[in-house]
Order: sequence, then C-alpha cells, then structure tokens
Amino acid sequence: MKKSFALRAAAAFLLAVTAAGIGVYQAYDAHPRPAVNLTDTTRTARTLVLDPGHGGADGGAVSVTGTYESKINLAIALRCRALAELYGIDTVMTRESETLDYPESASTIHAKKVWDTKARVELVNATPNAVLISIHQNKYTTASPHGSQALYAKTQGSRELAQAIQSNLSQVTGESKRTAARIGESIYLMNHIDCPAVLVECGFVSNVPEAKMLEEPAYQLKLAAVIVGTYLNSVC
Ligand SMILES: [Zn+2]
Repeated sequence: MKKSFALRAAAAFLLAVTAAGIGVYQAYDAHPRPAVNLTDTTRTARTLVLDPGHGGADGGAVSVTGTYESKINLAIALRCRALAELYGIDTVMTRESETLDYPESASTIHAKKVWDTKARVELVNATPNAVLISIHQNKYTTASPHGSQALYAKTQGSRELAQAIQSNLSQVTGESKRTAARIGESIYLMNHIDCPAVLVECGFVSNVPEAKMLEEPAYQLKLAAVIVGTYLNSVC
C-alpha cells in the first residue's frame, strides 16, 4: 500500500519539530526516513496500543527522585496518545490511570501483577491489526548509565520498528552507543503478544540528570513526539 502523503508529511513534521528542539533539524527536514515495512496489505488501518508499564499495585522502579516508574510511564504514554490522536491514529491504552481495578480473587501483589499482565496480553491480542508500544524506564545499580533503548519482540516487524525508534531517540538523548535489542524472555507481555511490539526504555531513573528530565513535561513530549513520529513514518 502506498503511504498517504498527508501522513508522511505529518510524520516528517512531528520528527522535524522534535529534532528542531534538539538542534538536529537537518536530519529530518524534508527527508523523512525510509519507511519500515509494517504496512498492512489488507489496507486495514493499524491500531497503536500504548502500554504504560506497571501501575496499580506495581509501581515499577523507583527513581532517584522518589517517583515511581509507573507514573512517568503513564505521563509519556498519555502524551503519545494525544499526539497520535492529533494525527488520526487509532489508539488503545492498556491503562489510563495509576489505579487499577483488580478482581477479588487477586488478593496478593503477585496475583494482582499476574492478573494485570494477562489482561494486557488479552487486550493486545484482541485488538485487530495492533502495534504495541510499551513505555518503561530503566534502572541500574550505578548512576552513570543513561539514554533510551528500544527492545523488540520476536514478532514480525518488531525489530525494524525498534531500530527506527532507537535511531531517532538517540538524537534526543545524545546517547548513540545503545542499539535496539531483542527483549528478554522474562518479560511476559512482550513474549505473549502476536503483533509487532516494541518496549521503549525511555531513560534511566538511576541517573540523576536524566531522572529529573524524565519528569519534565517538555522532555516527555519530546520523547512522545519521537516515538509517535517514528510510528507514523513506519506503519501508515
Ligand atoms: Zn518497567
């Protein structure tokens, strides 16, 4: 299917605006990156499933600022949704708030996490023509590691989308050493979905400067613009 000019232009614009803010405008201006081939041959529109990692009983990693990862993930995912909807992309969120409603049978934190993860898998797999982007933050035992990393599922198209996101995010973070990598087997959601899927570790909450930036609305918007712009350029 030929990519629509309007969506191509939207993706280029989104990336250009983001890139302009970080001084690499030339990289994107008028020359959108080559498309990643996630184009759907049935001509049915893709749906972007945004998964803010953790939430509810599971706060995820704790930032050096004391903020739970789940809150940062949700803020970035909501900004992704706002931008995606601006460009007419169908979106689904796996959660929209920090509180989750669990069934009575899930009485322990472990049971709640298991129930929630399986519910997310079901939602993704029940969404026709889904592309999953899961938003997380990284944490390390020492303070120096920083930068974003895109991790891909084994499903078709995931690696290409992750590589494109990684390449564009590296421009924002200035951390060009990281490359897109295959997700570990232990991440249940990413190993049980059947659509293209990328997990974006937006930054390290163990690195003081980056942890602070990850809580800034302007930086969250920048990350969201890169993620959604790359998605637009890849699948539309
Ligand atoms: Zn996480």
